[in-house]
Formats: sequence, C-alpha cells, structure tokens
Amino acid sequence: MPYTTKSYAAQSASQALAPFQAKRRDPLDTDVQIDLLYCGVCHSDIHQARNEWHNTTYPCVPGHEMIGKVSKVGKKVKNFKVGDIAGVGCLVDSCGTCSSCKENLEQHCEKSPIFSYNSPEKHIGGMTFGGYSQSIVVTEDFVLKIPKNLDLAAAAPLLCAGITTYSPLRRWKVGKGQKVGIVGLGGLGHMGVKFANAFGAHVVMFTTSPNKKADAKKLGAHEVVISKNEKDMAKHTGTFDFILDTVSAQHDINAYLPLLKRSGTMTLVGAPEKPLSLVSFNLIMQRRHLAGSLIGGIKETQEMLDFCGKHNIVCDIEKIPIQKINDAYDRILKSDVKYRFVIDLASLK
Ligand code: NAP
Ligand code: ZN
Repeated sequence: MPYTTKSYAAQSASQALAPFQAKRRDPLDTDVQIDLLYCGVCHSDIHQARNEWHNTTYPCVPGHEMIGKVSKVGKKVKNFKVGDIAGVGCLVDSCGTCSSCKENLEQHCEKSPIFSYNSPEKHIGGMTFGGYSQSIVVTEDFVLKIPKNLDLAAAAPLLCAGITTYSPLRRWKVGKGQKVGIVGLGGLGHMGVKFANAFGAHVVMFTTSPNKKADAKKLGAHEVVISKNEKDMAKHTGTFDFILDTVSAQHDINAYLPLLKRSGTMTLVGAPEKPLSLVSFNLIMQRRHLAGSLIGGIKETQEMLDFCGKHNIVCDIEKIPIQKINDAYDRILKSDVKYRFVIDLASLK
C-alpha cells in the first residue's frame, strides 16, 4: 500500500515549486524507510525542475542529497535498524546484474540506473520522488552510513556534490606532485577544491567571481585565477595534469584545454543545457583528453563518506526552510551561494 508524504514539487517547467503530497511505497522486505532531516540543493535540481535536460516528468520532487533517521525496516534488512542515521544520494536502485553493476558502477547500469527523482518507480508506478520531502523508502543496498563525527546538515551535500568530485579525482589519480584545476566555485567546485587539497595536489581554482577569491584560498586552493582575465590564464599554459570542470552554464572549454600538459585530462561534470563547442586542435596537438564523469557508485560513495569522516571534511552550507526554495534557486543562478543550500526539512512539518 502506498502512503503519502509532505513534499515540494514543480508542476511544470515554468512554475515555482509548491507543496505537494508525494506517494511512496510501504517498505518492502529489503527496504529502509527514512524520516528525512536535511536535503541539499544541487544545480541539477534546477535543471530538472525547469526541464533544461528535456526529460522531466511532472510533478517533479527534486532532491538527491538526503540525510535522515531510519523509521522502519523491512524484515530482510541487515545493516540498518530503526533510529539509525542514514544517507541517500542520486541513486535508489539499478538492475544489479549487468557488468557495470557488478563492477560497483551502478550509475552506469546498462538497463538504466534508477535515480532518486524522475526515474520510473517500478513498485507503485509513476516516477520516483526526491528528497524535498518528509520521508523516503529506499532499498537497503542504496542506503549509506554517515560517519558519526560529521554534522548532518553539512554532510548532506556529500551525497552528490561530494561523490561527483571525489570520483573523478580518484579515477584520474590526483595526488602529490600534480597541478590540478577546479573550474567554478559552487556546490561541486568547493568540494572539488577540498578533495584535491586533501589528496595532496597543488590546487588552482578558476572562478568568474573575483569576490570568491579569499574563500577559494580558505577552502584549500593554493592559487586562484579569475578566468575572464586572458593574461592570467595564459600564464598557466601547458602546466596542468588534470582539470575538473563543474560549470553549470554555457562557457568556453577551449579557454582551459590549452592549460593542460601533454596527455593531460580535463573532465566535465557540469551539465549545461546547451552543447559546448570544441576546437579539435586543443586536444590533437598535445594529445590531451576530454572526459566526463557521473556521480559515483554506492561502494565509492561510502568510501568517500568514510574518507570525509576520517579527515573531518564537510560542505560549507547555508540552511534554509523549504519555503525559501524558490529564492534559493534564484540565488544559485546568480552564483550567490556559499556554497550549498541545505533544506532543513523540519520546516515541512
Ligand atoms: P552551482 O553551485 O550553481 O555551481 C556552478 C558554478 O559554475 C557557479 O558557482 C559559478 O562559479 C560557475 N558558473 C555559473 N555560470 C557560469 C557561466 N555562465 N560561466 C562560467 N562559470 C559559471 O552548481 P553545482 O550544484 O555545483 O552543479 C554544477 C553542475 O554540475 C550543474 O550543471 C549540475 O547539474 C552538474 N552536476 C553534475 C553531476 C554529475 O554527476 N556529472 C552531479 C551533480 C551536478 P564561479 O562563480 O566560481 O565562476
Ligand atoms: Zn546533484
């Protein structure tokens, strides 16, 4: 039997988010039901709520950086009990049998990963609803443990902003002796700087916002470059091992590619609505690589959370009540967020 839970939803691409009763399945034997405490606000929530990726089904309840308290468990659940703190990120299910799932890369499930929102809900029909909500039901295998020493509100955005930056930095083996660039100081970018610094790299922050310079240094950048300044950009030509691009809007990737060394890699995680243009010679002449990366699998997400627990890494956040969500979207679009909004879901009660 499905139940309903208080939520906020977009009813169309042009409407503000508003109160909505979301339908959830009652926990199955392998499910965990979580009373949500906090949910981070990712730029993907805005892209999706406003149909900028041209695939949104309405109503859409966004939110994929969730932390809460377990309120019910199915009888086959092994690793969670009522009262435990639990986290849920962008993924809530996958086929479990394809080669990607077997390699712990559920985000690349060949059948189709089930995302926390805007994916088919195979048990009760309709679409999945995300974390701008009082409660959620998720199969145990996709529920994460939050290290006890971390502040829960500040840890919530690790579930997307954290893993999305941790995973590519690990995959391209960023570490000591390397020069690494992070492009865009927003929710993802500020975590990219923290992780690249924690892994021992020399970190350069590229920002379009001169007023974020001091913050970038505090977050762990060794140098800050205002990317609109061509002369300052040119000083770094051919010097980077790796660049992570987190920009959410139209921008010129050709300004960054020449900054890579021979055989260096630039990885895109930002997902702007419109296609980006590429000058092939920027890759060809120094056999540089341009790559992409999508969040991370569940095993790596847990590894990232444990790393954050060990090194006391959380996100820099501004807490908001759910009633301020539309203002928060406007502020994110103006790059006016330091550096992640987190919804205090007590405001839904
Ligand atoms: P965000 O907090 O809005 O940060 C994006 C940053 O990009 C801004 O703070 C700004 O940094 C820079 N920026 C914005 N507009 C720009 C423009 N026109 N030109 C140049 N720079 C600009 O967003 P977020 O939550 O970090 O998400 C970033 C992107 O990653 C989004 O597209 C999101 O959908 C995507 N995403 C992808 C994945 C994945 O798995 N691949 C996961 C999560 C999110 P400065 O002020 O420093 O310039
Ligand atoms: Zn996200």
